[in-house]
This record gives sequence, structure tokens and C-alpha cells, in this order.
Amino acid sequence: MSNNPAEEKESKNFLEEIIDKDLQEGRHTSILTRFPPEPNGYLHIGHAKSIHVNFGLAEKYKGETNLRFDDTNPVTESVEYVESIKNDVKWLGFEWKDELYTSDYFEQLYQFALKLIRDGLAYVDDSSSEEIAALKGTPTSPGTNSPYRNRTPEENEALFNKMRSGEFPDGHCILRAKIDMASPNMLMRDPVIYRIKHVKHHHTGDKWCIYPTYDFAHGQSDAIENITHSICTLEFMPHRELYNWFIEKLEIFPSKQYEFARLNLSYTVMSKRKLLQLVDDGHVNGWDDPRMPTISGLRRRGYTPAAIREFCKRIGVAKRENVIDVSLLEFCAREDLNKHALRRMVVLNPLKLVITNWDADKVELLESENNPENPEDGERKMPFGRELWIEKDDFMENAPKKFFRLSVGRNVRLKSAFIITCDDVVKNEAGEVVEVHCTYHPDSRSGQDTSGIKAKGTLHWVSVSHAVPVEVHQYDRLFKVNNPADEEGDFKDYINPDSLHVITNAYAEPELKTDAETFSSPRHYQFMRKGYYYPDQTSTPEKLVYNQTVGLRDTWAKMNK
Ligand code: ATP
Ligand code: MG
Repeated sequence: MSNNPAEEKESKNFLEEIIDKDLQEGRHTSILTRFPPEPNGYLHIGHAKSIHVNFGLAEKYKGETNLRFDDTNPVTESVEYVESIKNDVKWLGFEWKDELYTSDYFEQLYQFALKLIRDGLAYVDDSSSEEIAALKGTPTSPGTNSPYRNRTPEENEALFNKMRSGEFPDGHCILRAKIDMASPNMLMRDPVIYRIKHVKHHHTGDKWCIYPTYDFAHGQSDAIENITHSICTLEFMPHRELYNWFIEKLEIFPSKQYEFARLNLSYTVMSKRKLLQLVDDGHVNGWDDPRMPTISGLRRRGYTPAAIREFCKRIGVAKRENVIDVSLLEFCAREDLNKHALRRMVVLNPLKLVITNWDADKVELLESENNPENPEDGERKMPFGRELWIEKDDFMENAPKKFFRLSVGRNVRLKSAFIITCDDVVKNEAGEVVEVHCTYHPDSRSGQDTSGIKAKGTLHWVSVSHAVPVEVHQYDRLFKVNNPADEEGDFKDYINPDSLHVITNAYAEPELKTDAETFSSPRHYQFMRKGYYYPDQTSTPEKLVYNQTVGLRDTWAKMNK
């Protein structure tokens, strides 16, 4: 046992410390958090971090989490996005308390605005946006009061009601909070709280033509729901003063905002706006393209909820921004997939191997475990015959000494089968090896090997006459640089042109087709010696298509040894 009591304590992140204190000091008896996506795009892995933080804290403290659609900007939002967000949160394995919409609070928010107006804390400003910007000042010099700042509460209320009833066109005027045009915090210089937008809203239809701003909606929505801890990303830090100002002036539930560092992941971009550009410009095939850092892209690629949750757990929460290496995410995928991926043999780049001492019409069914990590997955039978496919790069003509695969005169073991010796090759007119001729050693059968023959390498293989053609999608990073959003110029200039490699002539052992015909939902696979794979959503038993989730090589674990 350690002598230092501090070492025995479980280490807590700064949010847990805050919650512990709030509970100890009786500020709250239970906690309620919220995840507040704006339905203007699909969720990405950064959102998964936020979901993990909000739902994770609630789980830990036996509290709850609301799913709130922060839908104050009808122009960019849609029901398609709402549905995808719900689906992704559920898929990640989290259950929300209530499904709520900021737009459901529009009437209440309108009443809040009226209260500010009546208390002399908000006014209608007819200035143009250029005029307002010109009077805003700079971070080092104060702004100037608007000529409309001294309108009476009665006048403001009448104008605000006219804004609501649709008497003014877009941009005619706005409602501003009356705070302090000299505040060092620019957000406190009479921020806009309502703007006119004659736009149909996906949730409220034509009911409203004025919409509250983020700042006027967010904290108040938290307060309406009695959210105890409103957790957001660091860029909202300057908004906190305004968040508190509204809550204080409106005398509503004292929700509190806390900020943590957003997740940045290497070799990708993480803002919905940028991801939307990739989709719209056709750089990827939709939001769920397996190269996208979206939850739906990761799912299609074969990532599991467990892998994503483990990743979020490992990165933790902190107050300083950094870029997390994508290989940590890949490491978490491998770790999880290794436990339940079914092992199958698939040859991606086929070369024919002939076993010359095996009868042409003889077929043996060799048994092999579906998953050595999980005996419950049972065994499968693999047909073995005279002609096999092996990987082209598992044979080398003038091989160096350390090449432990196939070359004339050398031995290898064929996985779950026999040791073979390579005797000869057949070449085409161009001098390329098109066939490898070998002899097998009958007494070297896997599990019953009495041959005494040594073989350093083990190769995967597929029987030619039983092989099932499959299409395999191999992926590389979507961008060529570590942090494309940080580079000069357009982030799209750094797109990796070779991020997708489609292999149309791969061969799989027949069991893979049987799987597709029998499993009601797709399984994860390890294609032996190649990586982890997952059936694409377009895959059918007639045309099998697999996405590579991640390769087998583990660079992250090596780097951190
Ligand atoms: P984006 O910039 O990608 O559009 P956003 O912040 O506008 O993201 P919202 O839908 O408003 O997206 O975000 C919902 C919640 O997810 C917010 O609390 C936000 O702070 C959080 N979030 C968004 N991106 C990240 C990220 N990269 N890391 C952690 N949390 C994030
Ligand atoms: Mg946003």
C-alpha cells in the first residue's frame, strides 16, 4: 500500500471535482446535463467526446441527460439531421431523459425578452448591420451607444410585438440587450438577441418570423430544463459572462456553464461546415463515407460503439486544446475488434499456387476456429484443393535471407493446413511469375504435425475452385497533413487524392458468403494477416463488398512503449 493518500484516490477530471463540490456543499442534490447539437449536420467524433462527457458524468453521478436540439437557425437545419443525430446517440449506447427542442421554448424566450424590455434591459435597434458593426468598437477601444438605445420600454415593446407579427422585412431591426458598450468583453456590448427571419422552421413551421440568437437561447434553455452543469467547448468561454447576465437578470434557475477542450483529430477536419463542403463538392460519397470522421462514417467503416467510447475515455477531458493522433482511435478499434471479429481468409492480390502432389479432384475440409479469442464462436470448415490463391507479395523470386515467405526451395506453412515446399514457377511472356508450383508434406497437418520440417512463415490461402469473389475497399487518411484546418489556404487543397483504393478481384473463402446469407445483421471480421473488415451497407450475398476498418499493424502501441 502506498504511504501517500493522494495516490490512493481515484484521479478525477476537473468536471468531476466541480460536481463533487456542488453535491458536498448542497448546491445540487442530483445532476442534470444536456447534449445540445444544432441539427445542421451529422455528428462527428468530436461530438462523441461531448456526448461521452455529458452522458458519462450523468451515469457516474446517477443523474440524467437531456438531448436538446439547439435549433435556433432555421436556414441550415433539417429533420434529416435531427433523425441522424438521434440514431447516432442511441447507437453509441446512450439513453437520454427527454428529447427537447430549443424551438419549443420560443414562446417562453419571447416572454423573457419582454421582461428585459420592461426592465429597461433590451431595446429595438433600427441600425443596419454595418452601422452596428461600426459602433461596436474594438477589443482595445470602447464602442459607441446606438442612437436607438434610449427608446422607452413602451416603445420597445410595441416595436418588438410588430417584429413578431411580421410587420417588418428581414434585417429591418433587431432586439439587443442593453448592457455595456464599453465592456472589455465584446460579447457584452449590447449583443443581438432577436433577429427577423421570414423563414419556415423545420419544427415550428411558419409560426415565427423572429428567432433568438444562440446566446439568448442557450442559457435560458438550460435554466428552463433545470440543467445543473452546462458543459461546452472552450470557444464559449467568453460567452459565459453573458450566459450568467441573462440568468441573473431574468431571475431563473442558476444553470452554470463549464468549458473543456474540443477534440481535434489528426489527418481530418472536424467542423460540420467543412464536412458539409466535402460532401457537397463530392470529395467523399456522403456524410457516411467511411473516410469521414462522422459517427455514421465510422459505423459504416466498421468501428464499434465500444471502440469509440473507449477512445473517449482514454482522451479524457482537459482545458487545453491539442490534436489527438488518429492512431489512438485505430488502436481502440483493434483492441475491441480483436475480441469479437470472426477470422476469415481473403486474398486481396491473387497469385495461383499449385500443389503438384495433390490430386486434381481431391478436396479436404480443414477445420479452423472462427475466433481464437472466443471459443463460443465455434469452428468453420475450409475447403483445400490442388489449386490455391495466395497473395502475390507472399512470393518472391530472388528473396533475401530474412524473407520468411515463399521462394523456390523454401518452406512455409499454409494456415490451418500443411507445410509446403516451393519447387518451381511458371512465367508469362513478360517474365512475370503467374503460377507457383509446390509440394505438400502429408505428415505436417496443422495440429498433428510429425514431419519435423521447419517453416518460419505462415500464409493465408483460398481454394481456387471454392473461392468467392469479393470487392474490398481499402482506405488511407482523407488528408495529407496532420492538421488541415491549420494550414495556409483552403483546407481542401490538402485532401489526399488516394484515400480510397477499390480492389475488385479479391478472393474469399466460401464461409464469408455463407455468413452473408445466414447472419441477420453484419459481423465484424479479421481478414487474416490483412486487417479488420466490415461489410459495406451495399454488400449483398451476390456482390460482397467489405470496408477495411483498420489494418493489423499497431503503430500507436509501438510509439507509446
Ligand atoms: P461544429 O463546429 O463541428 O459545427 P458545433 O460546436 O457547431 O460543431 P454543435 O452541434 O453546436 O456543433 O455541438 C453540440 C455540442 O458538441 C456542443 O456542446 C459542442 O461544444 C460539442 N462539440 C462540437 N464539436 C466538438 C469537438 N470537436 N470536441 C468536443 N465537443 C464538441
Ligand atoms: Mg454550433
